[in-house]
Amino acid sequence: MNKKSVKDVEVRGKRVLVRVDFNVPLNEQGQITNDKRIQASLPTILYLVREGARVILASHLGRPKGQVNPKYSLAPVAEHLSEQLAQAVPFAKDCIGDVAMEAVSTLQDGEVLLLENVRFHAEEEKNDPAFAKELAGLAELFVNDAFGTAHRAHASTEGVTHYIPAVCGLLMQKEVDFMGNALERPERPFVAIIGGAKVSDKIGVIENLLEKVDALIIGGGMANTFLKAQGFNVGKSLLEEEKVELAKQLIEKAKAKGIELELPIDVVAALAFQADAPHRTVKVSEIGEDEMALDIGSASAEKFEARISTAKTVIWNGPMGVFEMEAFAKGTERVAQAVATCGGITIVGGGDSVAAVEKMKVADRMTHISTGGGASLEFLEGKVLPGVAALQDKE
Ligand code: ADP
Ligand code: MG
Repeated sequence: MNKKSVKDVEVRGKRVLVRVDFNVPLNEQGQITNDKRIQASLPTILYLVREGARVILASHLGRPKGQVNPKYSLAPVAEHLSEQLAQAVPFAKDCIGDVAMEAVSTLQDGEVLLLENVRFHAEEEKNDPAFAKELAGLAELFVNDAFGTAHRAHASTEGVTHYIPAVCGLLMQKEVDFMGNALERPERPFVAIIGGAKVSDKIGVIENLLEKVDALIIGGGMANTFLKAQGFNVGKSLLEEEKVELAKQLIEKAKAKGIELELPIDVVAALAFQADAPHRTVKVSEIGEDEMALDIGSASAEKFEARISTAKTVIWNGPMGVFEMEAFAKGTERVAQAVATCGGITIVGGGDSVAAVEKMKVADRMTHISTGGGASLEFLEGKVLPGVAALQDKE
């Protein structure tokens, strides 16, 4: 990436404000149910600790809407992080003001402090300059390692960069490098797999990828709109009637560009959106009026597997079916296996896709699993992420 990283600057003895993504799921008792995001930020934190920086961590958690709300306190994260780092991580009950200033002033080289949820202040999401200046005032250097919020210009992701030097963290660098290289300099054949519920969520992604890939595989709920565009009847399937015309255009565009567009040729059709609904595998030309397509069929899976197996670069976003229900998970599972074993560079983005890959226990066999749902989508759309754009360029 053309942005400076934390390794390109002197950090020893400096107060370093690190924006991390500690937006972890908590249960009713306030316990962390999945610490993936904390784990993902450890490389940057550990690097700074080893280099003798004074580390000040800032994050959001949930949507407290600018109000102090104990339900969204980061206090449990400070505790969890203390265990992970095997050193005490003090917690400041506010991210600005005297409380924060005092906590920062006692920090020694190699120590780590966690600030309370930045979204307890409405100014955070408004990217309020005075609030950003106060946050920045805690430190001499800013490190953005929160890829998951890089698509938002908030005070703690963009605002602060106007007041102190700003560089990227190691996770941010990894995310941007993997996805950036795949998009800009892919080893070919480059195959994209797009699925999930709706076409409307992913129009930008499909349009951008059509400029770059050799083959585009479309599955999941959104495939129905494409099937309809091909003239098939999709019964009660999830369908975006108003996007059928667009789907037709995208099919034409792919053809004109010589891109192989792979759509399902059969589906698992069910009588209801239910785990135990009666279902059968049918050709896309034989979906009944009272049926809904909830997964790709086995012939489609075979066709997709064949295309994926020769790929040198794969980007996957969006499950092939309603994978949350066992009966409709097979298509996603087969595609996950095919991606895991293709031998090329493989990148998975999107909250549900990542969950599917983890559920199917093939996450370790992917080259890169993106930690950012919305951010990775915007990246795949070819958008500039404000949290990245604001960082210093390499000289
Ligand atoms: P991601 O989070 O990976 O970007 P999406 O949010 O776009 O993925 O889509 C995931 C959702 O799409 C899942 O909850 C899944 O159940 C749903 N889905 C997939 N296929 C279908 C289908 N055929 N009909 C209805 N919903 C579907
Ligand atoms: Mg999703």
